[in-house]
Amino acid sequence: MTQDKVDVQAALQQLKISFVDKIPAKITEIQQAWLTLKKDPENAEIKQLFHRLTHTLAGTAATFKLDELAECAREIENTIQCFSTNPCEPLTITEISSLLVSLEETASNTNISPVSIDEKTEEDTAESTNKSIATASHDTAKNNLVYLVDDDEDFNHTIKMQIKTFGYQVESFTSLTKFNEALKKQEPAVVIMDVMFGNSKTAGIDYIAQLNQSRTVPLQTIFITGSHDILTRLSAVRANGFAYFTKPAMMTSLVTALDKLSFKVEESPYNILIVDDSVTKSKHAALTLQQAGMNTKEVNDPLLLLNALAEFTPDLILMDIYMPHCTGLELSQVIRQMESYVSTPIVFLSSEDDLGKKLGALSLGGDDFLTKPVKPWHLVSAVSSRALRARLVRRLAETDGLTGLLNHSKSKACLKNELARAKRENTPLSFAMIDLDFFKHVNDHYGHPAGDSVLKSIANLFKQRLRTYDIVGRYGGEEFIIILPNTDLSTAKKIVDVIRTRFSKLVHYCEQEDFRCTFSCGIASYPEFRNEKTISEEADKALYQAKEAGRNKVVCAKSVS
Ligand code: GH3
Ligand code: MG
Ligand code: MG
Repeated sequence: MTQDKVDVQAALQQLKISFVDKIPAKITEIQQAWLTLKKDPENAEIKQLFHRLTHTLAGTAATFKLDELAECAREIENTIQCFSTNPCEPLTITEISSLLVSLEETASNTNISPVSIDEKTEEDTAESTNKSIATASHDTAKNNLVYLVDDDEDFNHTIKMQIKTFGYQVESFTSLTKFNEALKKQEPAVVIMDVMFGNSKTAGIDYIAQLNQSRTVPLQTIFITGSHDILTRLSAVRANGFAYFTKPAMMTSLVTALDKLSFKVEESPYNILIVDDSVTKSKHAALTLQQAGMNTKEVNDPLLLLNALAEFTPDLILMDIYMPHCTGLELSQVIRQMESYVSTPIVFLSSEDDLGKKLGALSLGGDDFLTKPVKPWHLVSAVSSRALRARLVRRLAETDGLTGLLNHSKSKACLKNELARAKRENTPLSFAMIDLDFFKHVNDHYGHPAGDSVLKSIANLFKQRLRTYDIVGRYGGEEFIIILPNTDLSTAKKIVDVIRTRFSKLVHYCEQEDFRCTFSCGIASYPEFRNEKTISEEADKALYQAKEAGRNKVVCAKSVS
């Protein structure tokens, strides 16, 4: 067991101990509410309080696997619901009174068994795959090694040279045996595998399928083939193939697939906001999600939700239903009425098992309903799969399809945020505007697809050469921006100059013809220029000067003072 797991397990155990300590006080509270309610059966407020107290006790007890206590509390909760339909029913009063006695007895017999977060049943095992989505997302190092396996030597050579242009390290093999030897020495990020070898029509697929059988994580494989038939495609999918391209391989699609496989590892952990009036329950959920590598923030007073939303920008909200002041359903309506959070998934976590109420919750803007107690792996899987999908949707809206860089509006929003941060933290910031030189000529002379390849290769170069917190966007057709936080003008110039020189040396291919490309750049910085408008305008002017001065240059905007 890892140290992290031990820590979380100890924290959960501590949480359980402090919950058990508080049970007598909770029962006294329930009993007092009951006495008041008996005297004043029409008092809706007290009835609601009594319901909430028993409901919460049932939920938390179940979370800690105190099943008898949970059941007892749940029975009282169910009975009080009958009470609300017929307040004067003497049978209900007697029933609740006797249930309260047995609740007290059960509580006094409650002992603390150790908490285990490793309680995995067979059913859970299937879900653990999703857990790896959440954890793998932030602990995989950047790896840009590609193995290309094809028995056609000329084809290997051409493809290898082209993929290299996009910043990948490529090793090619003409036989499966040689590929296997290399695999034993070093794992690539991606394998590009030919399907047909010698007389066998599917040797490449069969080979990968066999390798994957003895691996816990399948090799990330892209198959390339001359064959269009559905059976070959099916066997490629069954061998865990990520993509399937027919030759002559279209370079842009091949590189897009490579990018998807090798850049997805830079995901940051999901931010999950937990809204629950019970500190114990929210902490329990938080610890379980942290264990799977997610960031959490707990809100125990629903009225503080708005601040938490703004500060934490969650990928997903986990919401309790019954809370004082307002219900989770009302809160979710409030969230849905705020433009920035229209698409943030809301998952209700409650002990409510009435189907009608669940459907009601979904119709009010919830995305899912998990009934407590939820097994840890179920919670992790439900949360991470929805957070992942929400991020994918958001990314589609914020990025450019060809290059995967931020689009124009997102780039502008980032400049605004980063500038505000630089002012707050009193740090410099540089903003670079980049425009490809004579790009119209590239399109006219080598064709639009070759132009697209150049755009992708410059985007990849930026992604590889810049720090993870630098921001790169495609501002327009062949115009890009880079935001370099905490970087002054002269440092920014050096960084961009290195990329400029490297880019000018890249060789692009188009139907056997090689060509090169360059870019020009203008940079303006904070604090020399103090707002988004002047920084963009000054960077743009500097870019124009770089073009005027002969292109393939980086020019810095000078402040007047
Ligand atoms: P300069 O050095 O002065 O910037 O010259 P230029 O030819 O790069 O500038 P111009 O603005 O005249 O031409 C830009 C070209 O970029 C025209 C357009 O066809 C091309 N372009 C814009 N978006 C795309 C795209 O998505 N793909 C491709 N292949 N070309 C694009
Ligand atoms: Mg241009
Ligand atoms: Mg232009």
